[in-house]
Amino acid sequence: MVDPYEELLKQAYSNITEISGDEGRFTVPEPKVYIEGKTTVFENFTEIATKVRRDQDHLMKFLVGELGTAGKIDGNRAIFNGKFERTIIESAIRNYIDDYVICSECGKPDTRLIKDGRVLTLRCDACGGHRPVKKRRARTEPVGSRLEEGAILDVDIESLSRRGDGVARIGKYTMYVAGTKPGQTVKVKITRVAGSIVFTQKV
Ligand SMILES: [Zn+2]
Repeated sequence: MVDPYEELLKQAYSNITEISGDEGRFTVPEPKVYIEGKTTVFENFTEIATKVRRDQDHLMKFLVGELGTAGKIDGNRAIFNGKFERTIIESAIRNYIDDYVICSECGKPDTRLIKDGRVLTLRCDACGGHRPVKKRRARTEPVGSRLEEGAILDVDIESLSRRGDGVARIGKYTMYVAGTKPGQTVKVKITRVAGSIVFTQKV
């Protein structure tokens, strides 16, 4: 059986172009994001994929995984189901760069993804370092894919529900935290996820 993710990875590293050896600072443009109906449009998706020198499908697959939603590439844009603020998209891109672009030894982005046996390796042209690409690390940024029962994360309380519980919003998810007030940042444990509603306990 062919693993579609493996297939994407294969495409990702077969499409890598040669790195110019640019010594300049690595700056990625800010994502241009807006909500359109029930979807989120990420307008400069292609620009950012080009900037990080990675395959668009590979980046897209990662982003929908991080956001815990579905999406598609539409020309130079990416469109996600659900409403996601720019900061959420930005943190997902940062996670991608940490996992698949930046060399952990020298911190430079002049890297390539190489398949080494069964292991996907990030190889650095700047320092010669290489490391296996980790499947997933513990995240500090709260994103959709981390909203599982039992997960513990920090959230910003933005408003109060009619019942008087604190409300935090993460992407398409609405999270209720009893005993909190707007403006607080609290550590919570997820007790139940029902569609886009997330129930939590303060920990
Ligand atoms: Zn390096």
